[in-house]
Amino acid sequence: MPATITATQTFTVTVKGEVVTFTSTLSDSQVLQTLRGMRSSFAQDLAAKFNRLSEKQYAWAHKLAVYNTQPQKVDNTQPSEFEALFNAFEAAKAKGAKRLTLRFEGINVKPNRDLTALWVTSQTEKEQGNYGLQPKYLGKVTRQQIDSRLSDDVQQTIMLAANDPLNAAIRYGKVSGECSCCGRELTDPQSIERGIGPICATKFGWWCNWDCRRWLALSACTSLIYCLIDVSCIIICVNSWLFMREFVTNSWIRELSV
Ligand SMILES: [Zn+2]
Repeated sequence: MPATITATQTFTVTVKGEVVTFTSTLSDSQVLQTLRGMRSSFAQDLAAKFNRLSEKQYAWAHKLAVYNTQPQKVDNTQPSEFEALFNAFEAAKAKGAKRLTLRFEGINVKPNRDLTALWVTSQTEKEQGNYGLQPKYLGKVTRQQIDSRLSDDVQQTIMLAANDPLNAAIRYGKVSGECSCCGRELTDPQSIERGIGPICATKFGWWCNWDCRRWLALSACTSLIYCLIDVSCIIICVNSWLFMREFVTNSWIRELSV
């Protein structure tokens, strides 16, 4: 295996029975660095024994690195489809939440440290990782893109969650009986009814979405009632004053005329 290569290399790998030929301009150190930054256990394995890779494995190392470093077509002028999901994590992080994970149908979504990507793992499938058995990594979501490795079902779940994170979390809570944010079983009757724990909902910046609305509606009604009372008070006052004036004037007139 050559030590440093910056020229274009051509590789062939077999992906699910299909022969794929691709070119790589990455140097070994670039490949190694990219592999180390990837979450999949396959990439981690390749990185761990990088100097002892077979030809086939070496081709795969390049395949993974090339796939991972390909410039992604990102249109920054478009509002991100997944913004609401990232915002929820940002709100929770800002409020000091320690475990940033949201649970949706069959998957767990967790942001990376700088909140530029969300890692999606399976709730049911496990894989062998560096620290033993861990939830199987399925793919990632960036602000602009969703990983094509994610199955259609998972992609749809994420899209639904990104459209309306609170409702997706509530749906999950009602179906699974556990809070989408912390994974704890919902025991409080009000939380069961809502499908989410109040502290978690507040942490993720969602409290206002339903309770504030109700509170605002309530205070608007109260203000209206007070206004009406005020108006009737003014009318009553003016009327009484007019009546009193009339009464006093009349009695004076009566007194004078006596
Ligand atoms: Zn919770």
